[in-house]
Amino acid sequence: MDGMACTCRQTASVRPSVYRPRRPQQTDFYRLVEDNIETFLVQANDPFYTSAPCVPPHAETAMRDFLSCGLPGDGFCRAVCRRCGRTLVISYSCQHRCPCPSCAAKKTAVAGAKLVDDVIPEVPVRMWTLTLPKRLRFFLDKDAKMLDGTGRILAGEVEMFLRRLAGIEDGRCGTVQFIQWGASRDLQRHVHYHQLSTDGVFLVCSDGSVSFQEVRPPTREEVKAVEQRIATRILKLFVRHDHLENSEAEKMKTWEFSGFSLDASVAVEADDRKGLEHLVRYCAKPSFVASNVTYLPDADQVIYRLPKPDPQGRTQIELTPMECLQRIVELIPPPRKNMIRFYSAFAPNCAIRRKVVRYSEQEQLTILPSEEKKKTSRRKANLTWAALIRRVFEVDPLRCPCGGELKIVEFYTDGHECADYLERCGLPIQTADPKPARSPPGFEDYEEPEFEDYVEPDTPDEWYGTDPPFYED
Ligand SMILES: [Zn+2]
Ligand SMILES: [Zn+2]
Repeated sequence: MDGMACTCRQTASVRPSVYRPRRPQQTDFYRLVEDNIETFLVQANDPFYTSAPCVPPHAETAMRDFLSCGLPGDGFCRAVCRRCGRTLVISYSCQHRCPCPSCAAKKTAVAGAKLVDDVIPEVPVRMWTLTLPKRLRFFLDKDAKMLDGTGRILAGEVEMFLRRLAGIEDGRCGTVQFIQWGASRDLQRHVHYHQLSTDGVFLVCSDGSVSFQEVRPPTREEVKAVEQRIATRILKLFVRHDHLENSEAEKMKTWEFSGFSLDASVAVEADDRKGLEHLVRYCAKPSFVASNVTYLPDADQVIYRLPKPDPQGRTQIELTPMECLQRIVELIPPPRKNMIRFYSAFAPNCAIRRKVVRYSEQEQLTILPSEEKKKTSRRKANLTWAALIRRVFEVDPLRCPCGGELKIVEFYTDGHECADYLERCGLPIQTADPKPARSPPGFEDYEEPEFEDYVEPDTPDEWYGTDPPFYED
């Protein structure tokens, strides 16, 4: 659920804590998609116009759903104030992590809230960022085994390093890994990994309890050594799966700048929970910043402001609408792929998981019958929509401007029913309305040649004779 529109016109004295609807149609990014998506899909799926790969069905769905996200004409629920009887229309959201900036922001916030509240205990945490050479990145989005295998190697090597540093051979660190599909700095697909690992290891004591052994920060040389071990194992993995020749892998190992890069310079202290939530949100952030898009329809141009200047010193990039949409489509991750993964002590099948994750501490405090306990933990695991909006935007979406509580009473999903209701209330019927596909560039100027022009001037007259001889009987 998303934007809200009030059927009551007396909205002048709105309190700051009341949720205000967003207006997705007024953003440049929305207009860019609305104006060009149909043309883009026709051209992108036709090999005559482009050499770029086709738009996969999940990306097409995500782009189309984004246009309906937050528009009441495509579905909404109705909430009524218990105190003043005012009715509010709350439109549905598309739930895609890309390209919708609103849903991506909510998913990022959910990740931050859930991991900090329920998973990561109050211990120091370090962020490990791994990028791979371009050559290998190509296979990460083509072959799921490479994507998973690389993540496992990163998690495993960091754990081994922490064990050595702590001097505890069987210690387990807790790891949450985020797969980032693109880089917002240049609007290009660039699969890389952010990993949050506890800065130390958990150890099972003789009495069955679990203790945590903190470690000192790694030196630059130590991080470099971990990077080299990771690179060697990843190259072996790619050779084993025939994505790389053995000789090429050996050659890559000798390069001074191999393209592998491991960074471990960012860490948060055990008591800095706000800092940790900020770090989680950074790791789970969307692949591009929609508010940095400026769409100039008259000039048929899109300007994307870079979050920070690139190595060439550019602060923005200029693209045509078609180029921009092509890049954004490539940033949409494959469907049903988990982009947040848990390893080591945080892995679902780890024996000590229940003793180290945060929500278990709270469970231990309250003694409940087993059935009750199950219900409680399930409720805790899912943030309700209202709680999420309260957490992200610090406003209460179920509070009426009069101060009363709003109760959701009805759901509308059928387009005609939505339109009927909105019309009765005098509200605008906003639905997704992408512009129809345009002809390819230059098509309007193309003139059909006249066939007479093609008659060769020296064609002998006898070729245009009457009936051919074999018809004569
Ligand atoms: Zn009210
Ligand atoms: Zn959305």
